[in-house]
Amino acid sequence: MILSAHVEHSLSYSSSCLKRAIPLMVKYKMPITPLNYALWYCYVSGRNKALNGELDNIIRTFSTCDQERAKYLFNKYLSQDDLSLFYQLSNDFNGVVSNVQQGINDTLVHSIQFNQTLQECREQLNDVNLSDGDSFDNVLDCVERLSGESAALQDRAQDFQNQLAQAYAEISELKQELTLSKNKAEKDTLTGLYNRGKFDEDISRFCQAAHLAGLAVLVMVDIDHFKQFNDTFGHQKGDQVLRAVASKLLKHVSSVGQVYRFGGEEFCFTAHFASVSDMTNFTQQLRIAISKLQVKKPKSTNVLSKITASFGIAIKSKNSQPEQLIAKADQALYLAKEHGRNRLEIVEE
Ligand code: GH3
Ligand code: MG
Ligand code: MG
Repeated sequence: MILSAHVEHSLSYSSSCLKRAIPLMVKYKMPITPLNYALWYCYVSGRNKALNGELDNIIRTFSTCDQERAKYLFNKYLSQDDLSLFYQLSNDFNGVVSNVQQGINDTLVHSIQFNQTLQECREQLNDVNLSDGDSFDNVLDCVERLSGESAALQDRAQDFQNQLAQAYAEISELKQELTLSKNKAEKDTLTGLYNRGKFDEDISRFCQAAHLAGLAVLVMVDIDHFKQFNDTFGHQKGDQVLRAVASKLLKHVSSVGQVYRFGGEEFCFTAHFASVSDMTNFTQQLRIAISKLQVKKPKSTNVLSKITASFGIAIKSKNSQPEQLIAKADQALYLAKEHGRNRLEIVEE
């Protein structure tokens, strides 16, 4: 079935589709291309149940829809016409801009007209002879024209201001929606740290970045015996610990790098240090700070349990690939666990 692109294209309709389609593209990590936009636009409009069903299945299976599948869906359910939806949307927004431009032009035209009237009235008033009865009519005529024209000018200015305010509100609302949905898609809901998806995106960039002086590292952090902790204190206390560890990590790492929740009770961070001893000192401090976290019974000073974590450090080399670097950090973490936990181990690439 071919879907036609001839739907209502008011700015507010396009905005409402954009507000629903773009967050979905961000959520499912699909680039905002005309083709993807056309797919999700039709999806949110709900006009083709078969397309929605098939896209739902793909998302359920793969958590995204790659370009090949998107192309397949597009060819099956949409037409070239539907691509114009994306361009239509840009046109709508260009429309807002040109309305504003038209507003400026109209206001200018009115102000030129008003200047002309002023000029004419001044000449008319120059000729006024107050002993002449007709001249009073001339003065009245001038006043009437001037007040009429100035009211029209004010109306134009007011219209223009309203147009500007409306355009501004529409555009900033869209911008906010976009930022919000992008942030939401990148953050872990329990701890507020960047999530695994964001890590996967960032780690390639981290590996590709030019090799600077000093060292770049990936550090895996895993809470020790956390299963046992959960079993003893309950999942909710466990969640509380995850938040506390996340906040310690964030506090320490922010000045040297970027921290993520890798998954479960595992965190990681990328960072730059001037030397191996700087890096070791920093990570030891962080390890000690986490080991000072204590879980207490409510309204009691009795310590129930100490929290510790193990650290696996991989030092990046010139040609590190993300998978290798992660594997090295994992290997170091495994060693830290093997060697007794609450400690750090380093593996060089
Ligand atoms: P090790 O010292 O070897 O790392 O032992 P461990 O018990 O920490 O490791 P294991 O992988 O056996 O268990 C991890 C536990 O983390 C199991 C799971 O219940 C818990 N966990 C993972 N995600 C969450 C979460 O979001 N909240 C809570 N409360 N617990 C979680
Ligand atoms: Mg663990
Ligand atoms: Mg683990």
